[in-house]
Amino acid sequence: MNARSDIGEAGFRPASRIASVGVSKILQIGARAAAMKREGLPVIILGAGEPDFDTPDNVKQAAKAAIDRGDTKYTGLDGTPELKKAVAEKFRRENGVDYALDEVTVATGAKQILFNAFMATIDAGDEVIIPTPYWTSYSDIVEICGGVPVLIPCDEENGFRLRADQLEQAITAKTRWVLLNSPSNPSGAAYSEADYRPLLDVLLKHRHVWLMVDDMYEHIVYDGFRFVTPAALEPRLKDRTLTINGVSKAYAMTGWRIGYAGGPKTLIKAMAVIQSQATSCPSSIGQAAAVEALNGPQDFLTGRQESFRKRRDMVVARLNAIDGLTCRTPEGAFYTFASCAGVLGKRTPAGKAIETDADFTDYLLEQAHVAVVPGSAFGLSPYFRISYATGEQELITALQRIAEACAKLTA
Ligand code: PMP
Repeated sequence: MNARSDIGEAGFRPASRIASVGVSKILQIGARAAAMKREGLPVIILGAGEPDFDTPDNVKQAAKAAIDRGDTKYTGLDGTPELKKAVAEKFRRENGVDYALDEVTVATGAKQILFNAFMATIDAGDEVIIPTPYWTSYSDIVEICGGVPVLIPCDEENGFRLRADQLEQAITAKTRWVLLNSPSNPSGAAYSEADYRPLLDVLLKHRHVWLMVDDMYEHIVYDGFRFVTPAALEPRLKDRTLTINGVSKAYAMTGWRIGYAGGPKTLIKAMAVIQSQATSCPSSIGQAAAVEALNGPQDFLTGRQESFRKRRDMVVARLNAIDGLTCRTPEGAFYTFASCAGVLGKRTPAGKAIETDADFTDYLLEQAHVAVVPGSAFGLSPYFRISYATGEQELITALQRIAEACAKLTA
């Protein structure tokens, strides 16, 4: 779904399974921005999906203790018993869902959970319904696994959420999965119980369709939003739901590479087959750290949430004050997904026409030295995503520069 990368040079023949898949657009923009920075340009990168907070100290200590204890060998295939237990307890405590230990799996990031699940279940031509805007990796992973991503555009008017009639229409005999992500990367939109209900009712009618939910941003929600997960809301769907989560975002542990999921035993076992031939197990040290993240104190999460909320409010207000841009207030995650429809058709000081959201984000990088990601990378235009997991002062400067760059556009 992304722009093709430069594979295929000088005698190298890539496999057909990656023909339409490129290096993630987000990583490409990050690399370009980083290169500009190295040249001495004052680039502010609002592209990365990574909290700027540090991993909590108790978690770091647990990792050090694991090393000293000699927990430095292969672990159980899809997670240590300690981590599986911590995950099962987390699901029970925070989500009200009961998963037995053989219904829990741990992998090298939630990304690998997705990969294991699709590799283990998708045959050529099987369809996966993905509401857009979506996290770019979803469709690429489905394609690598030989599946067909069925992308359903979700209107801003409906908060970028999938509607039941859209879901009903998209389901075919070939549908294997529906993949929902709440709060969403990139839109920050989240599904309340009332938002989920009609979708779950549709799924109850179609017994061949399984539900994959990505709850990665569960702990980053605002204004009293009540996070819920489908396996808890609809026990009748639990035996065909995979509930994905991880420590990357909530605990600022992106580099530790630990993600986890709960789901029916049959699926969890099939996913372990893929993992056994891919990585053997997740990092032993990362797993020990994740046990502490899940079992340790959780109270710091509220403070981080509050700090993200302040930034969200500031970014949304400043975006909406810019002529040509509009931004809905997201319920969660640390992204804004603003419309740039109002700047399309305008010209840059150099005389170049802004025709697409990618033209606009290129212009912002060149003119304002601010790196953001175009909506096209997430399957919905004309929008652009800002990650506000960045220091407040840097955000203010970036928003000022975006405002100045927009003011320079002429009709
Ligand atoms: N799901 C979503 C929605 C994400 O934004 C990300 C990270 N960008 C992931 C999953 C993957 O997280 P990780 O592999 O670090 O656990």
